[in-house]
Amino acid sequence: MTKPADILLTNAHVLTMNEPMNQYRPGALAVKGASILAVGPEAEIKAQYSAPEVVDCGGKILMPGLINAHTHIPMTLLRGLADDLRLDVWLMGYMMPVEREFVSPDFVRLGSLIACAEFIKSGVTCFADMYYFEDDVAKATAEAGLRGVCGQSVMKFPTPDSKSYEDSLALARDFIRRWDNHPLIVPSVAPHAPYTCTPEILRACASLAAEYDVPLQIHIAETAYEVENMRNENGMPVIPYVKKQGLFEAKVLAAHCVHIDEGEIRTLQHAHAGVAHNPSSNLKLASGFAPVTKMLKAGLNVGIGTDGPASNNDLDMFEEVRLAAFLAKSVSNDPTALPAAQALAMATRIGARALHIGDITGSLETGKRADLILVDTSPLHNAPRFDRDPNNAYAQIVYASKSTDVTDVMVNGKWLMRGKNLLTLNESDLLQQAADYAKKIDTFLIAREQSVLSKVVALGGSIEEESFEVQVKVKLAEPSTVLNAFQQPEVEVVYQKHYRQYDNYFFFDDPSQGRLRYREDDLIDEKGKVTSVRTRLTLIGQKREDEFDENVLLSRSRYLAPASQTLRFYREYFKPASEKIIEKDRQRWHIKYKEVEFFVNLDYVERPDLGHFLEIKSRTWSRTDAERKAQLTAELVSFLGAGDGEHITRDYVEMVK
Ligand SMILES: [Zn+2]
Repeated sequence: MTKPADILLTNAHVLTMNEPMNQYRPGALAVKGASILAVGPEAEIKAQYSAPEVVDCGGKILMPGLINAHTHIPMTLLRGLADDLRLDVWLMGYMMPVEREFVSPDFVRLGSLIACAEFIKSGVTCFADMYYFEDDVAKATAEAGLRGVCGQSVMKFPTPDSKSYEDSLALARDFIRRWDNHPLIVPSVAPHAPYTCTPEILRACASLAAEYDVPLQIHIAETAYEVENMRNENGMPVIPYVKKQGLFEAKVLAAHCVHIDEGEIRTLQHAHAGVAHNPSSNLKLASGFAPVTKMLKAGLNVGIGTDGPASNNDLDMFEEVRLAAFLAKSVSNDPTALPAAQALAMATRIGARALHIGDITGSLETGKRADLILVDTSPLHNAPRFDRDPNNAYAQIVYASKSTDVTDVMVNGKWLMRGKNLLTLNESDLLQQAADYAKKIDTFLIAREQSVLSKVVALGGSIEEESFEVQVKVKLAEPSTVLNAFQQPEVEVVYQKHYRQYDNYFFFDDPSQGRLRYREDDLIDEKGKVTSVRTRLTLIGQKREDEFDENVLLSRSRYLAPASQTLRFYREYFKPASEKIIEKDRQRWHIKYKEVEFFVNLDYVERPDLGHFLEIKSRTWSRTDAERKAQLTAELVSFLGAGDGEHITRDYVEMVK
C-alpha cells in the first residue's frame, strides 16, 4: 500500500542541498500540501507514495529554489535610470529624489510584481527585501506566490511612506503584526544603515524585532567611506558601533559587510547574524571585495543577494552565484576557494539560514516547504555532461547554467511556473505598465536637469530662498585703518569672527543658470585653531539687480542650503562646465552704524593673490530701504578710512582669470 501525496516528481536528478549534500539520480520527491513529504531514490519514493499528479522531470535537475538574500524589489521600475555613478551621487542625486516624487503604494505594487515575475522565471523562490510601503511588497509577493522576508524601511529622514522615523517605526510595527504567521511572508524591520539612522532608531528597531522575534535587515559597511566616517565620528568600525546600539538583540541580516575585519566577523558569528553578499552590486559600485571566504570559515551564514535592480541591474541569481565563486577565487588568489557546491549552498541552504528561515526552506528535505525548481542542463551551452565526480552537477549549475534554463518553479507546494509559463502573473501586462511609469519618470528628470536650481531643490533639505543685499567692495592697501576705526564710539560691534574660507565656484554653459558656490567656512579661535567647519551651497544669480552711487550694488543670492555632501559629490552631480577656486582669510564684524546693521568683512585673498579688501553688506527688503542703506554704506566706507581705495564692482570670482 502506498501513502498518499499530492504531487510526485519523478525521473529527476535531485540535488537536495541538505547538509550531507545528498544527490539522487534518478531521484523523486513527494509533495503534500505545502511541504515535502519525502525525497530520495526514484524507486523508493515510487514504491512508497502515490499521487494524483505525477510529473516526469525528464532527467532535469530538481533542486531547491534560489534565495536572494538582499534586494529592493520595487526598484525594478528604476532599473537603468542612472548608471555609472558613485554610490552617493546615485543614491542622493537620483534614486532618492525620484523616489520622493514617485514611490507610492501603486508604484511599489507594480515594481514588486515585475520583480516577482523575474524571480519566478529565473528560479528564485524566496528573497529578503527592504523598501517603503512594504505592506504592498508583501501583498504583491503573496499574490505572485513567492516567499519573502519583507522589511519595512526606517530612516532618520522623511521617506516616501513616513514623515518621520516615529511614523515609519509605527508603520513597521503595524506591518509586522499584520503579517505575523503568514504562510509565505516573514515580516521584518529594516533600519536602512547606521549612517541613515540615529542610535535611537537602531535601538528601537532592534527591540521591535526582538519583541516579535522577526528578522532585522540593515546595510552594513558597504563602502570604505562609510567605515572611515564611522571611525572619525564614533571612534570605532561599524559592527562594534551597531553592537553598542543593541542591534544584535535581534536576528540580524546584514547586507554587504564588505569592509569588516576579523574581530567584526567574530562578533557577527557570536550574534548568529546572517550576511548577504552582493557580488554584482559591489562590483558595479566599486565598493570593494567582501571577505566571503573568511566569513564562511568562521561559520557565518553568508547568503547571496542581487541588491536592488537599480544597482545591478537584474535579479539574476544564477549570475550572482557564479560571480560569488569567481570573486572569492580571484580575491584570495586561490582557484580552489569557494567551490561550486559551496557557492550554490550559499544561494540555498545557507542563504535560508542567513534569512533566519533555515528551518522551513533552503534544501529539499522532508518537512521543509516544497520550494523547488527544475533546471534543464541539456542545452548546448551546458553540454556534454560528465558523471565521474558528483561535484560536476554543481559545476554545471554554477558555471554554465543560465537563469533561462529554469523551466518549472514551485513554492509552498504550488506551481508558479510550468514549462516556462508563468501561472500567477501576466508578463505583457506588467511590461506595458512599467513602460508607462518610465515615461513619467523620464519627463520628471528631463525637467529637473534643465535647471541648476531644480537640481539643488531635488537634493532636499532645508533651503533658504532669495535674499537681497546692498554691498560694496573696496581694495585696501593697508587694513590697519579699518581696524582702528572699530575702536570709535560711532560703531557698535555686536560680534566678531575669524574664518578661513575655501570657495569653489561652479560655472555652467548657460550663464543665466547663475553660478553655484560651495563654501567651506573654518571658524578660527584667538589661538589660530580651527574650532568648527561649516559647508554651504549657494546659488548666486548672474544678474546685478541695481547699482547706486559709489559703486554700491544691490545683489541677490538666490538660494542657500547647508552642504551635507562632499565637494566631489556636488561636482559629479551638477557637472559644471568650469570651476574656480578662491581661498581667503576673513575677519567678519557684525556691527551697528547709525542704528543699521551691517556685516563688515576684512578679507585677505590668498588664492589667487589679490590682497586685502574691505567688504560691507547689509540685507534689504524694499527699494527705499535699499536706497538708504546704499547711502549709509558709502558713508561707512569713508568712516572706516577706506574712501581712497578702488571700489570694485566685481566679485572675487570675476577677478580670477
Ligand atoms: Zn541594498
